[in-house]
Amino acid sequence: MIFPIIGAKDYIDQRGFMIHACPTCKRERTFAVYSTRRKLTLYLIPTVGVRSQYVMECMSCHGRWGIAESQWEDVKPLLMSQEQLSRWIVERERAAQPIAPPRRMQPTLYQVLQVDPSADPEIIDVAYRRLAMKHHPDRGGGPEAQERMRQLNAARDVLRDPARRAAYDRSMGIVRLPDAMRPEEV
Ligand SMILES: [Zn+2]
Repeated sequence: MIFPIIGAKDYIDQRGFMIHACPTCKRERTFAVYSTRRKLTLYLIPTVGVRSQYVMECMSCHGRWGIAESQWEDVKPLLMSQEQLSRWIVERERAAQPIAPPRRMQPTLYQVLQVDPSADPEIIDVAYRRLAMKHHPDRGGGPEAQERMRQLNAARDVLRDPARRAAYDRSMGIVRLPDAMRPEEV
């Protein structure tokens, strides 16, 4: 017995989102996945859903592909809610951030000379002489001692020059109170 079709209506149910390679965009894209049901109203028979299909739509190019019933079980675990999709995107962006290589902490010039940043020039001279004696390459310390001497000389050169010391302090965020404001003199 054949019933004449007297009406048809399409229903679309949002099923979720998934990340998948898009054949058109040729790259990974976000797809909206939904199922469509075409409900047909047949003469003398209440509305009957006769055809349903799963569809995935690329949210970039809006290309649509049908998902075969047999593929649906594979697709289902890939589906994400809107919230899960947002979280997934945030996490992927975070993962894509280049990880900064760990920066080796360079000692400050004050640490090289083992003095306080508030040290007076005379203190810096004394500290330099003491360490230079200890690390002088003539004492047979090898390449490490040479490097240490180089650091000592560089630190002394900067810190014994008031203008260069002030510039260095500024670059390091070291704030020196004017002499008149030193706590012991207040
Ligand atoms: Zn696409």
